[in-house]
Amino acid sequence: MRRKVIAGNWKMNMLPNEAMEFVNTLAPLVKDTKNEVIICVPFTDLFYTLLTAQDTNIHVGAQNMHWEESGAYTGEVSADMLKSINVEYVIIGHSERRQYFNETDETVNLKVKTALSKGLKPIVCVGETLEQKEQGKTIEVITSQISKALENLTEQDLSNIIVAYEPIWAIGTGKTATSDDANNSIKEIRNEIKSKFGTDDVTILYGGSVKPENARELFTMSDIDGGLVGGASLNALEFNKIVNY
Ligand code: PEP
Repeated sequence: MRRKVIAGNWKMNMLPNEAMEFVNTLAPLVKDTKNEVIICVPFTDLFYTLLTAQDTNIHVGAQNMHWEESGAYTGEVSADMLKSINVEYVIIGHSERRQYFNETDETVNLKVKTALSKGLKPIVCVGETLEQKEQGKTIEVITSQISKALENLTEQDLSNIIVAYEPIWAIGTGKTATSDDANNSIKEIRNEIKSKFGTDDVTILYGGSVKPENARELFTMSDIDGGLVGGASLNALEFNKIVNY
C-alpha cells in the first residue's frame, strides 16, 4: 500500500550509545508525524535501538541478511535472527552491497523471498550507475533490476515491500536527481510492477543525497512516496527536518 515513508540508512556508522541518543532526540520530534519513520542500523546497534525505540513511532530495520535459514555462513545473519529481536525491516540489494560484496539480482531475489517468508519487510534497492545513465540505459537497467528482484512474488507480497530507487551516482555525492527525473524513473518502476502484478500500489522511495533542503520538492512529486536517506540520517535534528519536510 502506498504511504509516505522516510527511512534512514546509517551504513557502517554509529555506536550503540550514539544510536540510543539519536532515538531519544528524534522520538519527541517525530511523534506527531503522519509519515512512517524507519532507521536501518548496523547489526550491533539493533538491540539497543529497538529497546530505546519501544513506545515510539520509530521503526527499526537492518541493512542486510542472508537468504539461508542457518548453517556454515561465517559472519552472516539470518532472517530468523533479526526476527527474534523484533526487527521489522531489512534493506536488500543496496548498491554498496552489490558493488563491494558481489550481490546480484539473483541473490537479491533470494533474500527478498526469505525476508518475506519470515515476516520481515524488505526495502529493495535498485539504481543505475553514472555510465549506464550516460548511455541512456537508466530505464532498461532499473526495470530489469526490479523485475528480477521481485521474481516469483505475489501481489499480496507487494504490501510488505518498500522499493527504493537510488541512482548510484547520487549516493553520497551531493548530486541529487532532479525531481522530474526521479519521478519519471519511479513511474517506470511502477509500470514494470503493474505489468507483472496487475497493480502498482507499492511504496517507492527516492534515495541519493536527500537533504532537508531538497526533501519537500522530491517527496511531493506524484510517484515518489518518500526517501531512503544516508548521510543526512546520521544527525537526529537534520533527519527530523527531512521526516517533517
Ligand atoms: C543511501 O545510502 O541509501 C543513500 C541514499 O545515501 P546518501 O543519502 O548519503 O546519498
